[in-house]
Amino acid sequence: MALSAKPRVGLVGWRGMVGSVLIERMRAEKDFDLIEPVFFSTSNAGTAPPAAIADLAAGGKALLDGNDLQALASCEVIITCQGGDYTQAVHGPLRASGWKGYWIDAAKTLRMNDDAVIVLDPVNLPVIQQGLTKGVKDFIGGNCTVSCMLMGMGALFKADLVEWMTATTYQAASGGGAQHMRELLTQYGTLNAAVRPLLDNPASAILDIDREVVAAQRGLSSEQTKNFMVPLGGSLIPWIDSDRGDGTSLEEWKGGAETNKILGRGPRFGTPLTPIDSLCVRVGAMRCHSQALTFKLKRDVPLADIEAMIRNDNVWVRWVANTRQDTVHGLTPVAVSGTMDIAVGRVRKLALGAHYLGAFTIGDQLLWGAAEPLRRTLRILQKQ
Ligand code: NAP
Repeated sequence: MALSAKPRVGLVGWRGMVGSVLIERMRAEKDFDLIEPVFFSTSNAGTAPPAAIADLAAGGKALLDGNDLQALASCEVIITCQGGDYTQAVHGPLRASGWKGYWIDAAKTLRMNDDAVIVLDPVNLPVIQQGLTKGVKDFIGGNCTVSCMLMGMGALFKADLVEWMTATTYQAASGGGAQHMRELLTQYGTLNAAVRPLLDNPASAILDIDREVVAAQRGLSSEQTKNFMVPLGGSLIPWIDSDRGDGTSLEEWKGGAETNKILGRGPRFGTPLTPIDSLCVRVGAMRCHSQALTFKLKRDVPLADIEAMIRNDNVWVRWVANTRQDTVHGLTPVAVSGTMDIAVGRVRKLALGAHYLGAFTIGDQLLWGAAEPLRRTLRILQKQ
């Protein structure tokens, strides 16, 4: 179904964390020049659009109700960053009402549905195009960790070089949402305040400082750990998302399931699955997800060829030479945050043998991990 020249595009969830980054990116890429945007809200319908989008909302039109199926059905495309509960509540009834438009979504709810494609076009444009040919109407952004990993290492999968992969992740607070980021920073502040006088005194003993910090961490109230449930500042949490009851977390399951679906692999595509397993860990970073990866390659490929493949895969790969100097300056969340770059470094053959490759990747999970694939999908729909 071709879109009209300037399609009416409904935006839901634009004031949330992912939604705000999406609006920023759509502004930067002048996407709004090509659409008629319509802004929905689930909490402030009928009010004037706030300053953040007032210039985009035609004639200052009031926000529409995100639960009004008729208003939603007037859009050719709906982009939602509102969250899984919203998708669960609205998508089915909207389709049941006969709406045939395109649904582009950041939430996980529809990702694994047979009639939905997970979008990451620098990696899986052919899968997206096959979906469009088959009449797919639901295009869903992938898990942030998976998308960032594939933007960096997709070349190895495209070349069918990967026999299996494991990931140990170091995931940022932003993966949980805005409140999680605030909680992390508040905890850091509390810990600092607890030892401020000792820090200011150069003669104080480091073990006294350490004891005070641990005491402060263990003493954080349930209000101070409301989002992560336990302290994250100065600590880490080796479990992300729900417990699948088999020793794995849902985040770890997504690594294998979504990577294969994005790449168009597995029984539903008539090909074998590439085995992928992960250990997902929350750390005290703000919005960049990092991952240490181990690959078993199907062939012994020289390191120089691997470097060339990764570097040339897409323009967002920022290759970081495997030296101390380059790594500590270029391969950190601080270096990557807020940029479209996916840093790839520490790439080397492992002592395990010539078929084993190690790598470390970092990406801003609000950009490639969430907002960017959504806006690019809209562009793809407009080009067909
Ligand atoms: P979020 O920040 O919690 O925003 C979701 C909605 O909450 C907003 O659109 C807004 O809806 C409402 N809201 C209520 N109070 C708010 C406030 N004070 N400020 C802003 N919004 C407020 O959610 P999110 O982290 O962007 O995630 C949205 C979806 O993307 C989820 O399904 C998530 O799983 C998925 N996702 C998230 C990430 C991530 O890194 N966070 C990455 C990939 C995918 P109304 O304006 O209608 O009230």
